[in-house]
Amino acid sequence: MSAEPVRVPFIDLTAQRLPFAQEIDEALARVMRSNSYILGEEVGLFEQEFAAYCEVAHAVGVDSGTSALELILRAYGIGPGDEVITAANTFVATTFAISYTGARPVLVDVDPYTYTLDIFQLQEAITPRTRAIIPVHLYGQPADMEPILALAQQHNLIVVEDACQAHGSRYKGRRVGSLGHAAAFSFYPAKNLGAFGDGGIVVTNDPDIADTVSKLRNYGQSAKYYHDLLGYNRRLDTLQAAILRIKLRHLDEWNAARRAHARLYQQLLGGNGIRLPVEANYAEAVWHLFVIRTVARDELQAYLKEQNIGTGIHYPVPIHLQGAHHDLGYGVGDFPVTEHSAGELLSLPMYAELTPAQIVYVADAIKTFLAEHIRLHAVG
Ligand SMILES: *Cc1c(COP(=O)(O)O)cnc(C)c1O
Repeated sequence: MSAEPVRVPFIDLTAQRLPFAQEIDEALARVMRSNSYILGEEVGLFEQEFAAYCEVAHAVGVDSGTSALELILRAYGIGPGDEVITAANTFVATTFAISYTGARPVLVDVDPYTYTLDIFQLQEAITPRTRAIIPVHLYGQPADMEPILALAQQHNLIVVEDACQAHGSRYKGRRVGSLGHAAAFSFYPAKNLGAFGDGGIVVTNDPDIADTVSKLRNYGQSAKYYHDLLGYNRRLDTLQAAILRIKLRHLDEWNAARRAHARLYQQLLGGNGIRLPVEANYAEAVWHLFVIRTVARDELQAYLKEQNIGTGIHYPVPIHLQGAHHDLGYGVGDFPVTEHSAGELLSLPMYAELTPAQIVYVADAIKTFLAEHIRLHAVG
């Protein structure tokens, strides 16, 4: 008999790091010997490699995904008086980046199956003040880009992809990041491609935007001590770029493993009375998160914790109900799909290094819980 896994963490950064530990040590030692910590050679090389990976012409490394979003909007001259439309169900960084520029985030509810922008509501949210749309490729699944791009073209709007959860995913065969005017990626450690700290990148086919973002991230400099713009210090560290270069070579194989894990979860959990995530017919999802849905979410999460299974909730409080966005004037009832799902969504362990035995262990625990839960509710 094989020993059962005793715990399944929500994420396992040790398992991801160990196979490359030596290679990474050597790369870090190389950077340290060069003393070139700020915009060193590895940054430029990583930018080229990541641009090629995304099938775009330009990439500009920055210090976070949030900065990537903000600097794209600033490069397009978006600011006070402008409106930027995005999804109500996203991480707050999407709307914060809009607010930092002085523009107003305008929220639109999500499709109840893909949790990405609802196209009909998007259309209704466009006003004469709208300058840009930020579709969020949430949980690793692209938003339905064709109708979004068509609406944008019709109204002369910029499309900025929030691809912070979707490194490598494809929409109708094309990489996310190559679909809109520009895209933002995050290298927060838990993302599909993660650094050993914060990091992010802007990708675009527009050479002017790439140029402006590369100035904005570095004090608005065109040459050392010549400052054309009121820029910032938002650079990607050379050390992080060195790590990311090594990890990028494995991203496709890790995403393929995530896709296999998602298929196994689907097989094992189908027909058990919980809602499973769907892959849209246009999508090749990279399963940043595997998010199930059940009315018994809190009880299930507590039960799984007892079985040493880690889970997450993405996200427990919708953006429009967060204190930080009180000024937007939204309230309860404005985005029913987002609000309703906030109480029911549960993210299961999902990372490339998961083993089939761990997935079986998680699925068995869920099935045991559901059988007991249904029995209790039937008699009670
Ligand atoms: C992680 C994330 C961000 C922000 O990235 P940081 O690197 O943490 O700043 C933005 N949008 C979404 C959807 C994210 O998941």
